Amino acid sequence: EPSMGRHSLSGIVDHLCRLQSEATGTQRLKTQHGTPEPWAWCDRALTEQVLANLVNNALKYSPGDRPVRITTAREGDRVICQVTDFGPGIPADEQPQLFERFYRGSNATGTDGTGLGLNIARHLARIQHGDLTLLSTPDEGTRVTLWLPAADTREAGDEQP
Ligand code: ATP
Ligand code: MG
Repeated sequence: EPSMGRHSLSGIVDHLCRLQSEATGTQRLKTQHGTPEPWAWCDRALTEQVLANLVNNALKYSPGDRPVRITTAREGDRVICQVTDFGPGIPADEQPQLFERFYRGSNATGTDGTGLGLNIARHLARIQHGDLTLLSTPDEGTRVTLWLPAADTREAGDEQP
């Protein structure tokens, strides 16, 4: 059972980026957060796991001299986080299979992995009543979007009488 609560999606992203740069000593992740601050109704640990998966893929499959962009925003009653890389992309005929268990694409040759990452990440998004979608253009790059339910911007109890 997910443990749902009110969490800042930009806060979760900033935390992951800090861990990543401390662990690798590099600064490939570039963040951009929308206003107002995007508050999600989610399980923080599961959301971190989803985003860590997406960031790992972006870093692993795009050349090491290219940045990886991570943006957050509120869109109506949902919040989104998009992880965008400027790598080789994924051929159109492979894209429908990426979320299948153990599926690895033709571009994964020579890299480590089990092919479970996206399958698990989508599952973890959906048990939080969110979703995960992927858009990739060969020779341009890949963008994965995590959707989560938005939480109220103000804390419960903040309302004026
Ligand atoms: P792991 O279980 O370690 O995550 P994996 O990375 O191979 O292994 P997935 O994360 O599920 O598995 O990704 C499935 C396939 O999708 C990858 O093997 C790769 O071919 C392709 N892929 C995923 N993300 C990207 C990306 N950002 N750019 C290009 N290809 C990608
Ligand atoms: Mg992966």
